[in-house]
Amino acid sequence: MKCHACGKTMEHRRDLTFNGEKLSGYRCSCGEEYYDPEAAQRVLLRQKLAHAKLTAKLGRIRSNLILRLPKDVEKALGLAEGEEVQLTVERGVLKVAKA
Ligand SMILES: [Zn+2]
Repeated sequence: MKCHACGKTMEHRRDLTFNGEKLSGYRCSCGEEYYDPEAAQRVLLRQKLAHAKLTAKLGRIRSNLILRLPKDVEKALGLAEGEEVQLTVERGVLKVAKA
């Protein structure tokens, strides 16, 4: 990708910072940075969700309970069907993290 400010080729990086969160994008030696649009979208969505009270519905398939996540949570964490997530239960609170 070419820098719009100086025309040099930009380097792809995974350690850029946007609103206090790390994300991927491009950095130029002139200091110009472009964030991957999807990564920036996820940062914004995660910050919006940080203050939201979310609810999810439990379903059942055979003997297993199924937790149905809201679409915004899926997008904010970049989750995909079939992906494994990490579950922890601390003092009766269930936490789901991207593995
Ligand atoms: Zn540049």
